Amino acid sequence: MAREAVVGGGEIENELRHDAALRPRRFSDVIGQKHVIQRLTIAVNACRKLGESMPHILFDGPPGLGKTTFANVLPGEMGGALQITSGPALTRPADLLPFLTNAEEGGFLFIDEIHRLPRIVEEFLYPAMEDFRVDIVLGEGLGARTVSMRLKRFTLIGATTRSGMLSSPMRDRFKMHEHLDYYDENDLATILRANAIKLKTPLEDSAALELARRSRGTPRIAISRLFWARQFSASERDGTITLAVAREALHLAEVDHAGLDKQDRRYLETLTGVFQGGPAGVEAIAATMNLPSDTLSDEVEPYLLREQFVLRTARGRMATSKAWSHIGRIPPVTENPNIGPDLFSSAGI
Ligand code: ADP
Repeated sequence: MAREAVVGGGEIENELRHDAALRPRRFSDVIGQKHVIQRLTIAVNACRKLGESMPHILFDGPPGLGKTTFANVLPGEMGGALQITSGPALTRPADLLPFLTNAEEGGFLFIDEIHRLPRIVEEFLYPAMEDFRVDIVLGEGLGARTVSMRLKRFTLIGATTRSGMLSSPMRDRFKMHEHLDYYDENDLATILRANAIKLKTPLEDSAALELARRSRGTPRIAISRLFWARQFSASERDGTITLAVAREALHLAEVDHAGLDKQDRRYLETLTGVFQGGPAGVEAIAATMNLPSDTLSDEVEPYLLREQFVLRTARGRMATSKAWSHIGRIPPVTENPNIGPDLFSSAGI
């Protein structure tokens, strides 16, 4: 029981507390995403030389890959103040107005989950992004009049896990678009070693690599696995994270050899069991798993798709032979020739 308390709420709380301390502050602290860093460094240098503010920037990619991190690093590099808000928090223009009027010259406004901005707020943002002005309607009905208000030249940083859901007028107003991709094991291991030093936790290189390999290419997940291994070692071992300790901790957390956790496996079990390997719509899978479909499409599916456990077809999600063998089930090859072991060989892949 005591152990469950550590894995659940306690871990999340501690993680949040440590998150701010562990987040990179400068480009030199950011690991991986080499090309993104290169382009951002060029943009920062150019703006400094030209005496201009940074162009509006959109970061997209699955959760936990560093969108907020980049939003924090840019003001650190450019020297402007940062204000932070998110799409769901801005339900009407009046919610956004204080952020715009408080924005300093050369300052930054970060809007997370920008794809969830209501249309009316999005439209209010357009002139602010384009001409650094807002149009405020005073009064009602026939007596209503519009007053334009000038704003300081600020930089909007948008982050989204669903760039496809962004309207094209919104997308077009960002002059830089950066897509963050999954990290390779070596970069994740480097992130873990840097975090272990900050946490004053001895971490063996082989353990860092093992945790990295089983973290779905995602820094947030890797850091969370490190955090759990650290707690496990502090409580049950001598505080050092060796390869054996890392493996034991991952085993207890029910993370398998491919880095999939209970929720990932439940998805694959549902797709192969209830839906016979698919095709199945994400809504139907989500309803069966009793989860919001956004959780599946934002957090669970992107990695399973990338690692080819699952295919997205026009008719729905389908389990691949890799998925069937991962969960140890035999696919019904004769009933549906499009799934199971023949999928790639029949396509000549
Ligand atoms: P997102 O905003 O995309 O969900 P975050 O920026 O919150 O992701 O990153 C999650 C965690 O991973 C943060 O604690 C951050 O410190 C760490 N992190 C992300 N990207 C990097 C990176 N490139 N280098 C070092 N740490 C990173």
